[in-house]
Amino acid sequence: MIKEHRDGWIEVVTGVMFSGKSEELLRRVRRAMIARKSVQVFKSHLDDRYGGIGHISSHDGQEIPALPVSSSRDVAEQVERGTQVVAVDEAQFLDGGVIAVVNALADEGRRVIIAGTDMDFRGEPFGPVPALLAVAERIDKLHAICVVCGELATRNQRLIDGRPAPAEGPTIQVGGLESYEARCRRCHDVPSAADDQMQLISQIRRPV
Ligand code: ADP
Ligand code: ZN
Repeated sequence: MIKEHRDGWIEVVTGVMFSGKSEELLRRVRRAMIARKSVQVFKSHLDDRYGGIGHISSHDGQEIPALPVSSSRDVAEQVERGTQVVAVDEAQFLDGGVIAVVNALADEGRRVIIAGTDMDFRGEPFGPVPALLAVAERIDKLHAICVVCGELATRNQRLIDGRPAPAEGPTIQVGGLESYEARCRRCHDVPSAADDQMQLISQIRRPV
């Protein structure tokens, strides 16, 4: 007996901010639509930086409609029976439950396309993205250009008032006034507020 053919799989587009993840997600979604697949696109409601809630926009201004979600459960509940392709942008903001959700969607025979940054501003693994990389059939890690030196950028530099933000800050700054730059490993700067304090103390204690 021939086993029922099911085409489901998971593909993840990851990398630093400005590396073209949304552009690539949009490209894949558009091609799936040209192939007359039924597609649903989701995006964490935490990301309303570009194009606002309800759209996925790339930094070059292209956009498509997307359903805002606040949890993996939202994704699971909103996927329709006939949907063949499920795309999720800004996956780093979702909870760990997203791994089981996308695995189930792929098991049902759907193509799942996920985009998200794999490292937080400290350069540490970000939310569920590292685990998504582990379960994916296909991974593409994209790079941006370091705005300091022009080499390939692999790190998210958080800035507050134009200065490198300390490591002690929250991983997700809701409604924060911070900004981000793409930087290479060498130019990535994450000062520790604790180190600054220690330096100050040792300066004060230094005998004159
Ligand atoms: P991501 O989703 O990874 O944040 P986008 O797809 O939204 O990235 O945007 C990628 C686009 O951003 C690039 O094609 C380019 O036009 C623009 N861009 C702005 N700054 C940079 C940078 N430092 N390095 C590379 N591309 C950049
Ligand atoms: Zn650099």
